[in-house]
Amino acid sequence: KNKNRNEDEFLQAVYEVAEIVIPFIEQTPKYQNRMLLERMVEPERVIMFRVSWVDDSGKVLVNRGFRVEFNSAIGPYKGGLRFHPSVNLSILKFSGFEQVFKNSLTSLPLGGGKGGSDFNPKGKSDNEVMRFCQSFMSELYRHIGENTDVPAGDMGVGAREIGFLFGYYKKLKNEFTGVLTGKGLSYGGSLIRPEATGYGCVYFIQSMLQRINDAIKNKTVVISGSGNVAQYACEKVTELGGKVVAMSDSSGYIYDKEGINTEKLKVIMTIKNENRGRIQDYLNTYKQAKYFSGERPWAVPCDIAIPCATQNELNKEEAEVLVKNKVLVVAEGANMPSTPDAIAVFQNSNVLFAPGKAANAGGVATSGLEMSQNAIRLSWTKEEVDNKLKDIMKHIHSSCETYGVNDIGGVDYVKGANIAGFVKVADAIIAQGVV
Ligand code: NDP
Repeated sequence: KNKNRNEDEFLQAVYEVAEIVIPFIEQTPKYQNRMLLERMVEPERVIMFRVSWVDDSGKVLVNRGFRVEFNSAIGPYKGGLRFHPSVNLSILKFSGFEQVFKNSLTSLPLGGGKGGSDFNPKGKSDNEVMRFCQSFMSELYRHIGENTDVPAGDMGVGAREIGFLFGYYKKLKNEFTGVLTGKGLSYGGSLIRPEATGYGCVYFIQSMLQRINDAIKNKTVVISGSGNVAQYACEKVTELGGKVVAMSDSSGYIYDKEGINTEKLKVIMTIKNENRGRIQDYLNTYKQAKYFSGERPWAVPCDIAIPCATQNELNKEEAEVLVKNKVLVVAEGANMPSTPDAIAVFQNSNVLFAPGKAANAGGVATSGLEMSQNAIRLSWTKEEVDNKLKDIMKHIHSSCETYGVNDIGGVDYVKGANIAGFVKVADAIIAQGVV
């Protein structure tokens, strides 16, 4: 705690894992007295750098860039880049730490990392974003590589930013390799990657429900956020016969009791992806919907809640309201969206709760599939990638069952995910000696 002062998010992520993993280590002789958790909470390397760039009016601006290379025991560092004004070392260390466990759960050879900048892409022109990305990459390029560290997108880093970052990396290194994932299809991207986190989260919910002989069909669903993860979670829920009645952004949420079907989702995609507008603009097309300014959507009654916006966006009081409204499943599309006391509320009320490191691992898993395709210089079809994604999500679900099943046959997904993620990394650390 002393070493990581002012890193509340990081400490929160570590406590959540430690609470579960320490008792497991105490019961398992081969993991004892090896300082495994102590080694896992310390990033292997943190890079922090200045990013200076020039805006359209000619003014020089300075942001801070980061890359946290957390753990490479089972593969090259892998994790997203986030461009958001809230980015700081604590946020990236928490995400990088979670990423180690998540990547381990995917069953692919991926270590964990995370990076980004406090740069705010909102309101910036394409040229400003490009100049920022080039300046950011002019430092990052020396630390990454297809066998070393393979960043991807995250909040504020989508296809446009990955394109600019990749173009500049290629110019600086004079090589065309799979150094970034989330690339466009014309230059090495994978089909299904944009959809993968949202789709994967819904596949995970399907497995959770199947276990209790239930299904998504006819369920009412609330999704927070309206970005990449939220959009494709909505698409898949709708495809499987569920009804999404609310979505949000950082300004408020919309409620459409008829359901946000595929056609309406397209309107949201245009608003958010092309116009870079606000979710409130949905009402310009669908006047029967309601908009709640400055509120989060958790008071809307639902069977399934999928938080897909940001960390700590669902607190204890909101969890209590969801439980009162008889929520059946809460699955985290975002990273750490539920506060620890919200998770306690769900678990004490027998809500099926899936933590992000299991439920949203489909994104990084498909990034792993993009790396494989780049390495063999081939592209798989949409069906091939989607089927692999489905298999991976089923595998993650069964790993959670292996370590999380309780006395009455239910599954503690938090426990299952943390222990399953820990075991693979711990075994690799032990095998590789003290390095
Ligand atoms: P996007 O930037 O595409 O979307 C983020 C969404 O969350 C936007 O609707 C945004 O609203 C909203 N949001 C941001 N901050 C807040 C806030 N403080 N309160 C309420 N809403 C907010 O990001 P992604 O969809 O890619 O990522 C969402 C989450 O999922 C993040 O936690 C990310 O780390 C996680 N994740 C993403 C993966 C991916 O493949 N994309 C993979 C695994 C996890 P606004 O438009 O107003 O900013």
